[in-house]
Amino acid sequence: MKKTPEKNIEKNRIKKSENLKDKNQVKNREFAVIAYVFIFIFILLAGYYVFFLVAKSDIFINNPYNKRINSLSRFVTRGDIISADGKVLATTEAGGDGEDIRKYPYGKVFSHVVGYSENGGLGIERDHNFELLRSHDFILTRIISDISGGKSAGDTVFTTLDCDVQKAAYDALGDRRGAVVVMEVATGKILAEVSKPDFDPNTIVADYEDYVGDATSSVLLNRAVNGLYPPGSVFKIVTALSYMRAKPGDYKDYSYECTGSLAKGDGSYMHCYGNEVHGMLDLKSSFARSCNTSFASMGLSLDLKKYRSDAVKLLFNKKIKADFDISKSSFVLNKNSNPAEVAETAIGQGETLVTPMHMCLIASAIKNKGVLMTPYVIDRVESVNGAVVRQNEPSRYKRLMTKDEAKALRELMNETVATGTGRKLSGHGYSAGGKTGSAEYSTGGASHGWFAGYASKKGYEDIAIAVIVEDGNTGSASAVPVAEAVLKVYFGE
Ligand SMILES: [Zn+2]
Repeated sequence: MKKTPEKNIEKNRIKKSENLKDKNQVKNREFAVIAYVFIFIFILLAGYYVFFLVAKSDIFINNPYNKRINSLSRFVTRGDIISADGKVLATTEAGGDGEDIRKYPYGKVFSHVVGYSENGGLGIERDHNFELLRSHDFILTRIISDISGGKSAGDTVFTTLDCDVQKAAYDALGDRRGAVVVMEVATGKILAEVSKPDFDPNTIVADYEDYVGDATSSVLLNRAVNGLYPPGSVFKIVTALSYMRAKPGDYKDYSYECTGSLAKGDGSYMHCYGNEVHGMLDLKSSFARSCNTSFASMGLSLDLKKYRSDAVKLLFNKKIKADFDISKSSFVLNKNSNPAEVAETAIGQGETLVTPMHMCLIASAIKNKGVLMTPYVIDRVESVNGAVVRQNEPSRYKRLMTKDEAKALRELMNETVATGTGRKLSGHGYSAGGKTGSAEYSTGGASHGWFAGYASKKGYEDIAIAVIVEDGNTGSASAVPVAEAVLKVYFGE
């Protein structure tokens, strides 16, 4: 049958409408795809924004050399650093040209420990950079300041540092080079950390090149934690402990007659300090009077492998973990070392190097029944509204020695204060123990003065303290008076 034209027209109309329907469907699908793509991109961007804000920013902020730090400080006002007694150690003020100015109200007193954020950074300003530049302000406040182009308030870092103790240590060291560290033995809280020569962090940007150019002073070196010194006689603590471990049954019967000198086995002689002749000594009097020949003879009797392992147990040759950087102390004797090297090492000369912080930690473990607490300088981080973001709790680092060994060492160190080279610390309202040292660092006989010890008084937390005075000669003349001045303030005497 022949198709009628009407039917054809009808068919064409249907075809056309179907075509139109198809086209509309395609168009709708295109719109849907575009919409989904936009939604997807939006979610991606929003996600990235949150990811950057929460996670990635820490990585960027934490790198002090990162240029993004400056761009981030455009959005966040760097938070304050506060002492344990509530004093402002670092804060940010608005300058006249709209730029933020970092202010350090105590100037040089906290220079190394609080540090600075420019030029690679130092101290708390460097180590806790990301926390100071991170804001936990109310989210709505942050969004509003984000939109309005204002700044969010960075978090506040509360330290364990005590202004009065820090100031006492700072003043007592005076113009001399050296370092002081004070720590609570039961918690590991660092109460004071002084290093000299010092600098004014308020003008660090202007002065920086001068400090870097002056290689002899090492002004920017934090001697308290990064200064590696020969320990001198404070190392007799380590030798005494190793000797007690080697002769657990009869170290109390130890006796030695000091004639003032001892042959080191290489044709040379070791002498007692100031050419003194100490006569008959036991372990306690050898320690309290710091007899070199007695300790050298003790060292020569030790198994070198065990001596080394005892030093390593006290964290020599180890990286000590803390919320700040501590340089690694070194003990180099090994089974092939010659007698002269052993004799020198036993009295803290030779190649042994130690930081004042490390000596303070050893003294703290002795006072704390053998247990070292993890040292820390940050107590907590709070938002600008006072909400706690992070709280540090005291934690046990490691047992450095048995309870009995700690007690035996305390007897030696108490005797040093009662009758020996630390007598200046006796007769006060507190009781103290410790060891002095005079560490020769040149063949000409120039020496640094050391003191490492602890003190306690009813109603106060026990503390450990380490002091080094460069070129201070004897520890009893230079370092002990610094410790005395700090203890006087800490114990309110
Ligand atoms: Zn002697």
